[in-house]
Amino acid sequence: MPEGRPRESAASVGVAVPVEVRHVTKVYRGGWGLHDVSFTLPMGVIAALGGPNGSGKSTLLRCMAGLARYEGEVRLHGERLDARPGPRRAIGFLAQTVILPEHATIDEVIDLFARLRGADPQRLPLPAGFLNAGTDRIGELSGGQRHRVALAIALVGNPTLLLLDEPIASLDERGRAVFWEMLATLCERDGVTAIVSSPSPSELRAVADVGLFLDDGRLVREEDFSGVGATIMHPFPSDDEQVGS
Ligand code: ADP
Ligand code: MG
Repeated sequence: MPEGRPRESAASVGVAVPVEVRHVTKVYRGGWGLHDVSFTLPMGVIAALGGPNGSGKSTLLRCMAGLARYEGEVRLHGERLDARPGPRRAIGFLAQTVILPEHATIDEVIDLFARLRGADPQRLPLPAGFLNAGTDRIGELSGGQRHRVALAIALVGNPTLLLLDEPIASLDERGRAVFWEMLATLCERDGVTAIVSSPSPSELRAVADVGLFLDDGRLVREEDFSGVGATIMHPFPSDDEQVGS
């Protein structure tokens, strides 16, 4: 596994804060999904999203991806993410549970998503060998191989913000190594920011720059693994704290 990646702090190199999560709250019928979650991330970092089962990791990623309604705001480069497809194209999302059409081939599935996103299916930032021959049918793939296809779909259109919900859970050791290497390259070379969830984030510590930890829907802890100074847990005053606005 690669060592932690020391970086210059975002503030010291004057990088604008591209990812802002402001007071995001999600209430389910049964109770809190998320409770006033706020943080910011600069470009080019890998953030590990940790927390026990049921702590709100999937809910946070789904809200950020626009797949669930929520209160609060998510901004990308200052632009609020809402239902408009434009800013949404900048997001690549991998769901925790992925269902793909059994009869389609890998190529057909990638082509379909590329067409939906107006992207070139040939220009996926994947290392050679990550996907099997594109004519294999989804129904013939193992769980881990399907997961690789789902990961490839998340990368269609070269998004600048990757939201990956437990991407390594069903990958084998080789798949994990390739995945981490690919993610580090995307973040360092292309300035992609990635939020990667895991119920056991100790594995993420070696590759992530920062850790964000949820418990019972609240952001309870942040850790700066590489001295990047990337996150601020409560950077935005809530409306009733704002003076004169
Ligand atoms: P994690 O991904 O950290 O395991 P989730 O975000 O899936 O946690 O769930 C957080 C909480 O929200 C849990 O208590 C879960 O039961 C609840 N929850 C998640 N999705 C729904 C839903 N669609 N309807 C109602 N409650 C939900
Ligand atoms: Mg989850």
